[in-house]
Amino acid sequence: MALTLGLRRGEALGLRWSDLTVKWQHGCEQGTKCRKNRAAHVCAKRETESAALTIKRGIQQLVWRHGCPEKRPCGKKYGAGCPQRHGGGVVVTDVKSRAGRRTIGVPRQLIDALEKHREAQNAERDKACELWDEGDWMFANYVGRPVHPTVDHENWKLLLRSAEVRDARLHDARHTAATMLLVLKVPPRAIMSVMGWSEHAMLTRYLHIPHELTDDIAAQVGGLMWAAPAAADVDDDEEELTDEQRAALLKLVAALPDRWRERLADVLPDDDDGPGSALVPA
Ligand SMILES: [Zn+2]
Ligand SMILES: [Zn+2]
Repeated sequence: MALTLGLRRGEALGLRWSDLTVKWQHGCEQGTKCRKNRAAHVCAKRETESAALTIKRGIQQLVWRHGCPEKRPCGKKYGAGCPQRHGGGVVVTDVKSRAGRRTIGVPRQLIDALEKHREAQNAERDKACELWDEGDWMFANYVGRPVHPTVDHENWKLLLRSAEVRDARLHDARHTAATMLLVLKVPPRAIMSVMGWSEHAMLTRYLHIPHELTDDIAAQVGGLMWAAPAAADVDDDEEELTDEQRAALLKLVAALPDRWRERLADVLPDDDDGPGSALVPA
């Protein structure tokens, strides 16, 4: 969920099955018995007509605070150890910001994986019998309650180890998702909406610019500069960047490490609306 959809841990753990809406359509040929007699979701060649996930709540771990009187402190270092602790623990919260509350498309491959996961969850429910506390949680523990963020953290580490990949935070997977959208040349506006970002600034702060992309930018910028005189002769503006591309380029240049910027500064034009303007310190 983090790697493909860019969800935050709390957002993924806060999902209920009812937040996922999948519309199926027949994939079989026109006029088959299947089309006539069966629902689309049981068609052997079924396809998703649409699949969307709405993010509207999250599971958060709040830090315990001391409840002991100031005059007679309990002496514990952390609030969690205080006998009169308050305000802490794991809570379910509504996503309040307009950007955070969002609906995103779900790839078919992920729908298939989620269906398998749902079958496994059904088996766990059967096993738990009356101990199961039904909450419709997409990711539930063995009694149907939401998965504790700490447990999820440990599971994530185990998963990385069994996949034999380098250690990383779950949040890094979210960064990867954002970077992937960038590499796929998804417009910044759309990236913000998928990631639940409210500020343009967040985009530049969060994204790791992969070197393939910086190379690509350098090539584009180079192409733009060196092709310019020739393009002017050829009379059409096919070589011009669209406003959207220009805005994306501006943003990318602003996100580059300083040493890259210094290098690019040498080749970029000095005009006000070109990528060069991103290099002028604010
Ligand atoms: Zn069918
Ligand atoms: Zn205390």
